[in-house]
Amino acid sequence: MRQSHMLIPTLKENPADAEIKSHQLLVRAGYIRQVASGIYSFLPIGRRVLSKVENIVREEMEKIGAHEMAMPALEPSELWKETGRWTTFGSELMRINDRHNREFALGATHEEVITSLVRNEVKSYKQLPLTVFQIQNKFRDEARPRFGLLRGREFLMKDAYSFNESYESLDETYEKMFEAYSNVFRRCGLNFRAVIADSGAMGGKDTHEFMVLSEVGEDVIAYSDTSRYAANIEMAPVVTTYEKSTEAPGTMEKVETPGQKTMKDVADFLGHEVHQGIKSILFQVDDQFVLALTRGDHEVNDVKLKNLYDADMVELASEEDTKRLLGAGFGSLGPVNVPEEVEVVADFAVEALVNVSCGANEEGIHFKNATPGKDFEVTQYADLRFIQEGDPSPDGEGTIKFARGIEVGHVFKLGEFYSERMNATFLNDQGKAKTMIMGSYGIGVSRTLAAIVEQHHDDRGITWPKNMAPYQVHLLSMNPKKEEQKELADQLYDSLLEAGIDVLYDDRKERAGVKFADSDLFGIPVRITVGKRASEGVVEVKERATGDQTELEVKEIVDYIKNWYKA
Ligand code: ATP
Ligand code: MG
Repeated sequence: MRQSHMLIPTLKENPADAEIKSHQLLVRAGYIRQVASGIYSFLPIGRRVLSKVENIVREEMEKIGAHEMAMPALEPSELWKETGRWTTFGSELMRINDRHNREFALGATHEEVITSLVRNEVKSYKQLPLTVFQIQNKFRDEARPRFGLLRGREFLMKDAYSFNESYESLDETYEKMFEAYSNVFRRCGLNFRAVIADSGAMGGKDTHEFMVLSEVGEDVIAYSDTSRYAANIEMAPVVTTYEKSTEAPGTMEKVETPGQKTMKDVADFLGHEVHQGIKSILFQVDDQFVLALTRGDHEVNDVKLKNLYDADMVELASEEDTKRLLGAGFGSLGPVNVPEEVEVVADFAVEALVNVSCGANEEGIHFKNATPGKDFEVTQYADLRFIQEGDPSPDGEGTIKFARGIEVGHVFKLGEFYSERMNATFLNDQGKAKTMIMGSYGIGVSRTLAAIVEQHHDDRGITWPKNMAPYQVHLLSMNPKKEEQKELADQLYDSLLEAGIDVLYDDRKERAGVKFADSDLFGIPVRITVGKRASEGVVEVKERATGDQTELEVKEIVDYIKNWYKA
């Protein structure tokens, strides 16, 4: 492609709203442009890279027997009402009305549409298992669209759905998907981990997220320093055992702690360690109030609390409810003398404590020498805290370390959640009607593109992995006003095209400095410069990522490039 007539607007400066590298570089290098918050156009070279990711995904899906289809972006509300998600999906679902005032959702995901199709068209176990996928723009009105393509409101997703006759069969499909996902992200040149994730209120069993390791990731991964164990921090069980203190319980007493708010403040003020205090937080769990206790140096994990109660919703109790129920504000709460309508649950670590401090449900007052069982009752002890670095790994091998990750893919055993609500059944080999067992599998295609840039860039621009770049070769002539340079570059361009090599040709009448800077920004893996030695038929070849360069005769170029890409 000749660059002189292509839409690749490059920028010298980072756009003001771009906080992270992939956002900055994709805009600066002319891959994308924002249309509105979280909504982007892909310019020609951006579209090319997006297609590369798409094609890898498509190939790996087809390899495991999934078939591509296309569902509409407009989804009638009736289907979403069948599963209850018209309400539970909340304000992330974009909704519109047609001229007859019928309600539609803009597709955020397609479980309802596919389940409705399959229940009508698939009747027999002989047609199962069945896996279909599509690659399509999704719409989600994210509360905080940010980081460019990483969290958009319209973004490209691959979503696949499987229908099986049994859980065993679902396990097999899931395994294949898992492998296919690993292949996709490996081929995209990504350093990633598959981590155990939370199945939440979807009613599913197993679920894994594929995380690209990156400082800018929104998720925290807890992984073992010696084994393959890795989980989303939300999910990692804590297996630490706590030895009960052998201290004799003393007499609980009230102490004044004026102005001491944090666990550290109170501990310093009372002259003990942070882990000798109890942290108390009031939650609303569906329509019940729960006071959750952890040791002062631990953090309560609301996902674990939600799972403990099998609840649909967990949130911090409002300041108003807290005052009404416990008589004090957030910094002064404690488990002693709480009213009956508040249930007290505690993390296992609390059970081992003796003579510790806790809030007294009075502003500026704490108890010291409080002991669970003696001074207050706990309805239930459970694993309620976030795992921490240094905790033993849940698989029994090694200790836990943290890393940040970008979720690029998600595989999910849905089970019967949708098929039951939507009545998707089939006749088994005994002629009996059975509910279909489902799985769903997503890849953020546009998010993956941004994740690749997060892992492949340097000070000057993007450094695409070989098979992700928009073009294989960037050809430029240093000074196209010089006839011999222009002629040689034109000739080389033709022979590269003829050899089936994707080449972007910077034939613009710009200064060499501008061309080199743009070339570095684009990140095409190999650059060929036609310059001073054009008259001798010699050009310079430079690798973008390593900076390695050599001079070659023009006639050697095609073979050199082909071999370089084969290696
Ligand atoms: P997140 O926790 O990041 O919001 P999610 O759990 O809502 O993700 P899924 O519903 O599992 O995501 O969607 C499948 C995939 O689509 C995700 O793994 C992710 O790669 C991608 N994705 C989800 N939301 C967005 C978004 N707002 N912008 C870009 N990609 C997204
Ligand atoms: Mg989301």
